[in-house]
Amino acid sequence: MNRRNFIRISTLSAGGAMLGSIGFGGGKEPSLIDRLTGNVHLDESRYLRTPTYCEICFWKCAGWVYKNDQGEIWKIIGNEKDPHCNGRLCPRGTGGVGMYYDQDRLKTPLIRTGSRGKQEFKRASWDEALDFVAKKLDFIGKKYGPETVALITHGSGGKLLTTLMKAYGSDSVAGPSYAQCKGPREVGFGLTFGTGLESPEPTDIRDTRCLVLIGSHLGENMHNSQVHLPGQM
Ligand code: SF4
Repeated sequence: MNRRNFIRISTLSAGGAMLGSIGFGGGKEPSLIDRLTGNVHLDESRYLRTPTYCEICFWKCAGWVYKNDQGEIWKIIGNEKDPHCNGRLCPRGTGGVGMYYDQDRLKTPLIRTGSRGKQEFKRASWDEALDFVAKKLDFIGKKYGPETVALITHGSGGKLLTTLMKAYGSDSVAGPSYAQCKGPREVGFGLTFGTGLESPEPTDIRDTRCLVLIGSHLGENMHNSQVHLPGQM
């Protein structure tokens, strides 16, 4: 999803959630924006609060999901006991409400029915989809060898798929998130200064008048506590 689509989806979802909340609260429910910005007092007794965590990035901030008595998500906020977020999610995590209600969110496996390049798919059950993949893997493994199948992995689900690949007989597993992202920088810093920058990169935002970030984009790749000011953590 690109940034433009994310903003569009978040906006549409916010609108949808606001419309939904009008029905739920008899026209008096505060808007999603007011909820997220803390402009309204939340009567927690009316909402079911369940723990969750955000997996939009690997920082994995812990959070709370609030649902109303219709089972609709009212808001998602950070868990105050999590040192990764200190009670505050970044804008991507807060936008989780929009992602959840995104009309294009994938909810079932899809199998392509058209040619490549055409976005034509049919819905499939998990059994059907897994059988489909298993047959393809079986065919490729026997004809070309299992090592010809490569896994480009990222995120927590990658560990399960890496195990699957090993069982299949392929060690063609790569993590481009390291090799094409911070890996070269870490190696370069290690060789030059004796230590890498780690992640998130240490930034003294409070005492900085001009901050130049090389190889890092806070707007799209921020890790929450990286931008918390000292004293607020
Ligand atoms: S830093 Fe943002 S995107 Fe990453 S886990 Fe935390 S809330 Fe989610």
